[in-house]
Amino acid sequence: MEGCRHLVVGAGITGCTIARQIAEELGEKALVIDRRDHIGGNCHSHINEDTGVEVHSYGTHIFHTKERRVWDFLNQFTEFNSYRHKVVTTYEGRTFHMPVNLQTINSFFGISLKPHEVEDFIASKSAEEDITDPQNLEEKAISIIGRELYEAFVKGYTLKQWECDPKELDASIITRLPFRHTFECDYFTDRYQGLPWDGYTKLFERILDHELIETRLNTDFFELKDTLPQECAIYYTGPIDKYFDYCHGELTWRSLRFEYRVEDVPDYQGTSVMNYADIDVPYTRIHEYQHLHPERENTSGRTVTSREFSMKWKQGDEPYYPVNTDEDRKRLERYFEEAAKQENVHFLGRLGQYKYYDMDKAVLAALEFCDSKLNNN
Ligand code: UDP
Repeated sequence: MEGCRHLVVGAGITGCTIARQIAEELGEKALVIDRRDHIGGNCHSHINEDTGVEVHSYGTHIFHTKERRVWDFLNQFTEFNSYRHKVVTTYEGRTFHMPVNLQTINSFFGISLKPHEVEDFIASKSAEEDITDPQNLEEKAISIIGRELYEAFVKGYTLKQWECDPKELDASIITRLPFRHTFECDYFTDRYQGLPWDGYTKLFERILDHELIETRLNTDFFELKDTLPQECAIYYTGPIDKYFDYCHGELTWRSLRFEYRVEDVPDYQGTSVMNYADIDVPYTRIHEYQHLHPERENTSGRTVTSREFSMKWKQGDEPYYPVNTDEDRKRLERYFEEAAKQENVHFLGRLGQYKYYDMDKAVLAALEFCDSKLNNN
């Protein structure tokens, strides 16, 4: 590791962005390492050999952003297709639009409200609850959509995903989902959306394709940590608690397990993501990857799906979602105090910051970090 001046730990979306900025803006060499055998972190995708379909190895990742800067940054390395994400949810054997919109309300209650009637209708439902200052996910959801819609579409799904009472979860989780008074069923409203035209792997390959960037896979940071020269700046995008050997205890995460299948039909569910709101269906959603690229032709007559199961994280599992309990927040504060004492080590990304970042927010945070910090090393 002699002479290494910038070490980026993790070749996910945050690490790749930082490495590119070091090379381009600073004009210095960056070494990117990852313990996995591929780049792209959880955005990684691979081609299923039976069907030729691009499968997202860690669940569906759809790029969407309001941020022009993030869009321009990524468009240097890829074009995006015109995919617009639409989610359908299944409850008691019936399918509905998700997020909750006018179609969801009308078909759930068997009515035909007009947009201007929705507010009063929902207010009459949530008035029964007397929630003025929602303190948790359940109260927040009920205040937005009323109890019946909450119980049908949110409660079971959330229990499966987080394995804890929605009353114990942060209200902000549910505000990720919009609520619509119209028939609009796009999941995201961001101006810029889509899937990398020729796949996530090509996108990350191109970000890292710079003469000043070297990438080493199957390389564990903790095995080479002690061999780093003192002047080497470390951009660490792994779990912050792991960096400090869990000295203040583990931060809690949710992990996921995917059960992949090649289905013997050309189209399994007619959409890329089908949520399952019923508590007695063990998975939260089924992904069908071919729908993410309507511009591609799948002539195999078969299609790839994966059932997503949420599970408690333990050391050795992949961390996906920060649970962010009160205890986690206290622990995180202690880890941030330790982090502040580290000279030349920066903690970044979803794992390094213990933050429920979307892809675009991860890129933006990485770009802004580089704006403010790179020249100070
Ligand atoms: N959620 C729900 N029902 C759904 C979809 C989502 O109750 O059909 C809730 C659930 O608590 C979830 C949160 O909304 O954790 C955020 O969902 P999102 O789709 O943003 O999650 P992600 O795509 O990041 O997994």
